[in-house]
Amino acid sequence: EHVANQIAAGEVIERPSSIVKELVENSLDAGSTRIDVTVEEGGLQLIRVTDNGSGIATEDCEAAFFRHATSKIESGKDLFHIRTLGFRGEALPSIAAVSKVECVSAAETGGLGRKLIIEGGSIKAFQETAASRGTDMTVRELFYNTPARLKYMKTIQTELGHISDYMYRLAMAHPHVAFSVKHNGNLLLQTLGNGDLLQVMAAVYGTSTAKALLPVQGENADYTLKGYVSRPDVTRSNRQGMTIVMNGRTIRNYAVSGAVMSAYHTLLPINRYPIAALHIGMDPSLVDVNVHPAKLEVRFSKEQELVRFIEDQIRSILRGQVL
Ligand code: ADP
Ligand code: MG
Repeated sequence: EHVANQIAAGEVIERPSSIVKELVENSLDAGSTRIDVTVEEGGLQLIRVTDNGSGIATEDCEAAFFRHATSKIESGKDLFHIRTLGFRGEALPSIAAVSKVECVSAAETGGLGRKLIIEGGSIKAFQETAASRGTDMTVRELFYNTPARLKYMKTIQTELGHISDYMYRLAMAHPHVAFSVKHNGNLLLQTLGNGDLLQVMAAVYGTSTAKALLPVQGENADYTLKGYVSRPDVTRSNRQGMTIVMNGRTIRNYAVSGAVMSAYHTLLPINRYPIAALHIGMDPSLVDVNVHPAKLEVRFSKEQELVRFIEDQIRSILRGQVL
């Protein structure tokens, strides 16, 4: 099983940001309303994710770190109606195979929990400990036992860039969750979790940029659209400022980002892109996430309709702008 875990680990755990992603998604699946992320040295030295979610029951602690023990998928059909973010039961075993993990979790409010220590896939300790309800996962010395993998890591700044980019998008996707992100003691992001997307965007892009954001809100029979787009005079040199959230998941879809771009049509200087955070809601049966569950790419069955809807909505907001 160790070998299987290390092989799978290479697929699930590409770099430190993959761990942040898997841990934070588990926290969201557990219904957390507050998620704190602490990172040291771009995540290569330490990644810690603390949440106030449902916690892991004592009898499930060990099983959570062993392959497929907890897969939430019951049949192939379930893939089309995924509600939770995790559904493969591979993340924790993969993480534990290539690092030193300490998991403290409590499912009850009584102040008693369990601490599990796993290094390179082997359990080192499992004991009772004082803990408030929720889960506190610490991952140290990533890839310490797979030096070939470690060699492929880029600079601390690059690894941190992947982590913060991921966390910024996630915070914009979940304005009802209070997030904080710290790197080497510096606070990089703090959101209130009060549902105010504009506050999250201010935390991500700064308050002066937030003042140049225009609210978007519309719906038709098939779709809802809600969020903010920047005034055409507030732009970026790349598309990274566009966050598209579909039914609560951040996605990448060129048709959708293309629709946003074409609404700006002649308004933007060449090679400039707007800032946008848009939440799209639609019937899940019109989305095919099955294409690649680990990736962000999705397909829509009525893509042209969706593209036209988004473009119309944003165009009408920009039309109302007097510059
Ligand atoms: P998956 O998320 O695909 O089920 P993971 O390996 O990511 O698989 O997690 C295994 C299981 O451990 C989860 O299904 C969940 O039951 C439990 N778990 C992991 N992290 C948390 C957390 N932060 N809070 C509560 N339960 C958790
Ligand atoms: Mg998971």
